[in-house]
Amino acid sequence: MRGGEPVVVEALKTRALPEGSYDHLLEFLRLYRDAVQLLVDRIWSINEKLSRRKLHRLFYSDLVRLGFRAHHAKEIYVYAKSIVESAKSNGGRKPVLRKLSARVDKYDYKLDPDDMALTLKLHSGNEVKLRLVTPRERLGRYMDWSNYELVVKYEGNGFWVSVYFRRSIKPLKPKTVMAVDLNFDNVTIALFALDGRLTGLKRFKTPHRKILTHRIWVERIQRRYPKSWRFIKGVRKAIERHGKKIKNISWDYSHKLGDLVAELALKYRSVIILENLDELRENNKKGKEFNKRLGLWFYRRIQFCVEYEARERSLEVVEIDPRGTSSKCPRCGGKLAEYGYRVLKCGKCGFIGDRDVTATLNIYMKYASKSKYSRCGVSGVAPNAPKPGENPSGMRGNQDDAVTSSHINSYES
Ligand SMILES: [Zn+2]
Repeated sequence: MRGGEPVVVEALKTRALPEGSYDHLLEFLRLYRDAVQLLVDRIWSINEKLSRRKLHRLFYSDLVRLGFRAHHAKEIYVYAKSIVESAKSNGGRKPVLRKLSARVDKYDYKLDPDDMALTLKLHSGNEVKLRLVTPRERLGRYMDWSNYELVVKYEGNGFWVSVYFRRSIKPLKPKTVMAVDLNFDNVTIALFALDGRLTGLKRFKTPHRKILTHRIWVERIQRRYPKSWRFIKGVRKAIERHGKKIKNISWDYSHKLGDLVAELALKYRSVIILENLDELRENNKKGKEFNKRLGLWFYRRIQFCVEYEARERSLEVVEIDPRGTSSKCPRCGGKLAEYGYRVLKCGKCGFIGDRDVTATLNIYMKYASKSKYSRCGVSGVAPNAPKPGENPSGMRGNQDDAVTSSHINSYES
């Protein structure tokens, strides 16, 4: 189970003027880029999972020999690895880096808010001082936050820095538990009292089908012009149009849903329970469904927005291992089988329940079994689990309200 103190991260991006010569800074950025490229090339051909320790063993001394400081080296190999991983997971080619940009750890810079200045420690013992060109109040806002990393860039017209600030927030003590289950067609939200009573259900449609339609269009076009679609302007433009639609629909939906879930959770003072996506990827029925039909990216986007909005409201978010949430009986742990449309039945104890609601029960119980707040007897099912055929009803109204009241339904066609 993951979770803990919620953290808010914000970046302050500003132009930065070097005091005196900036030769060393430019040299540093070139050296840094070339070092990341070198590592990308080497990691690309290694077909095994590289731990931090292994990365360190492979590359640390070489990087230090090039003149980098200890934490420069760490940033470089971690960054190179993440570039390779994301390129490979997108099925792309080996990346070629052109931009001059470096991540710098907090040990390698000093921020002086009184002076509005930043001192960076560079390679081979060099240093550079940069003046931050931004209103003092903007920086002042972060004075009781901790800064931990920055990115410095050269963009042809000058230098820019983004300083990342972080603040942990004391989560509100939860009074209820909100389990969130995401499916292809809908998102189901179940509200539980701390004693395990199910007190509310809400269901939102997802725009998955609409996204899928655009996806199918793209595939159709690509199939018709298998080799040439990249090179014919009209065809490429058509594909881009569908891609843009997908992007808009998914971000729009994610923001709105994140906002809605967090608002509800705030109203009921809930801790929000989500399934952990990284575990979902492993050989899981649900994972397979997502991968085949959409990829997990849309789920990740929704999750990101829910977590972000929750943290903005000082609400706690906990992730549980999703294994079995859609296949195990919440009453006895037996195996569930299809029993009509969207209904599951346990072969062992006879439990019958709506597929999505059953998933939220399991999600809740995984949380409750480890939680410090919940006092529920975990081995049994929530006492008032919905009867078969009973539809989730809204927390404030009926089921139709749950599906149609929000702006979210504007995606249904
Ligand atoms: Zn059972």
